[in-house]
Amino acid sequence: MARYTGPVCKLCRREGLKLFLKGQKCLTEKCTFNERKNPPGPVHGRRGKMTGYALQLREKQKVKRVYGVIETQFRNYYEKALHMKGITGENLLTLLERRLDNTIYRMGIASSRAQARNFISHGHVYINERRVDVASFQVKIGDQIMLSNKLKVSGLVENNITVARGVGLVADWFELAEDGRSAKIVKYPIRENVDIPIKEQVIIEHYSK
Ligand code: SF4
Repeated sequence: MARYTGPVCKLCRREGLKLFLKGQKCLTEKCTFNERKNPPGPVHGRRGKMTGYALQLREKQKVKRVYGVIETQFRNYYEKALHMKGITGENLLTLLERRLDNTIYRMGIASSRAQARNFISHGHVYINERRVDVASFQVKIGDQIMLSNKLKVSGLVENNITVARGVGLVADWFELAEDGRSAKIVKYPIRENVDIPIKEQVIIEHYSK
């Protein structure tokens, strides 16, 4: 599936905020956004005030970049959110939060959603004792998520967990085992669990035209 493979720090500069796409580097002084906040591209090519439509597009791009999804997937999430009970914008965000790659990231096992996708596609993630290699898998209440033993050898996961716990990145909608390598989903994520400033209503306005 087509996915952006260029420099990710550029995306933070484009959106004008830290999107936390590069793992532990994002939490350090080395974060590119600390040094350069200007959008990429030539200065003379930049326009002045953005139109309402441009704002809607930017907001949509920002969310797609945070969760690493392409347009077709994103629109599918919107369609699904539209037919769910409750506020469509909040439904959209909670569907994205329930993706397996995001769940692994929120558990602190992976330092970024991209790394979580790597763990999943390499067969290191089990749900209810069955291997799942689809990053977009939607977790549900009662699901037991576990890591394969193969990942134990590296120490990478332990390091990720320590860092994530240290900065309070671990979410509260699952019960974590003491070693942090497995978890049980006990409730669904809510709007407040999304820790990046997102105006979801603007995205809904964009799609509902
Ligand atoms: Fe964005 Fe900084 Fe992380 Fe790069 S290091 S992806 S600029 S938050």
